[in-house]
Amino acid sequence: MQKYRVKVDKDKCIGCGSCPAVCPANFEMRDDGKAHVLKEEVAGLGCNQIAAEICPTDAIRVDPIK
Ligand code: SF4
Repeated sequence: MQKYRVKVDKDKCIGCGSCPAVCPANFEMRDDGKAHVLKEEVAGLGCNQIAAEICPTDAIRVDPIK
């Protein structure tokens, strides 16, 4: 299965909480008020793509690993 690297740009994240709401399997909010990725390398997109699409500030990147 295609692997992907998932990242949150902490400078862009405004802490809205949407990504853990749609993808609790791989995102959580932490004490710094920012979203954190639980697993940066994932097999298959799963809900990560949805999180990236709904992020209001485009802070989430999901890139294929070659
Ligand atoms: S959806 Fe985007 S702005 Fe909202 S908490 Fe997640 S990374 Fe931050």
